[in-house]
Amino acid sequence: MLITDTHTHLYSEAFDEDRKEVIQKGIDKGIKRFFIPAIDSGYTQAMLDLEKAFPKNVYLMMGLHPTHVKENYLEELAHVESMLQQRSFYAIGEIGIDLYWDKTFLKEQQEAFKKQISLAKKFNLPIVIHCRDSFDEIFEVLDDAKGDDLYGIFHCFTGSLEQAQRAIDLNMKLGIGGVVTFKNGKIDSFLNQIALEHIVLETDAPYLSPVPFRGKRNQPVYLMEVLNKLSDIYQLPVAEIANITTENSRDVFGI
Ligand SMILES: [Zn+2]
Repeated sequence: MLITDTHTHLYSEAFDEDRKEVIQKGIDKGIKRFFIPAIDSGYTQAMLDLEKAFPKNVYLMMGLHPTHVKENYLEELAHVESMLQQRSFYAIGEIGIDLYWDKTFLKEQQEAFKKQISLAKKFNLPIVIHCRDSFDEIFEVLDDAKGDDLYGIFHCFTGSLEQAQRAIDLNMKLGIGGVVTFKNGKIDSFLNQIALEHIVLETDAPYLSPVPFRGKRNQPVYLMEVLNKLSDIYQLPVAEIANITTENSRDVFGI
């Protein structure tokens, strides 16, 4: 069984005490592929260090997170572009719009999102979308930019069935993680109407731990709870869910 975590911040300070042990525990369970979204230039070195420590398991993305789009966003975007020119990455992420925390920089967030979509097209890479209280704004940008050269993942998908179908029509897979185990998470009620070929797994560690670890620090092995829940929803063995979602992640990231 080969399990792929398509979205995990293993370079986060939350793992400074026990990073190697936590990652190894995941690898021992079969979670052997970790796709690592960027946040801003302040984390780039930590990401490179993580890749160095686990070269066979870690796949890096590059991008500017929407909650980190501030006054200096043009410098940050220049950093993203310069890193893309220096070496290879597996996606542009995480990028998008977040209106939950702060609406001050909405215009800049929209501009940064569009700019990074054009970088994804230029470097032939998928995008990994962060969308919080912003489905309309995200779809507006995607509708403008859509095409065969635009594809990727709607990370931590929390929308409706209709929004899921709209995302799929835009060449996006749905990133499913801890929220699917929440009592008020809602997506578990319609997920069985979405073919498994559109689903990829993620922890979003250290955030969004699944039940029964909700509220605690999330970590790779907790992905097993998400797998168990999907096994219930789709009435398929855990190993089959793991293999299909790993194949789906290969379709997106090309590896
Ligand atoms: Zn994230």
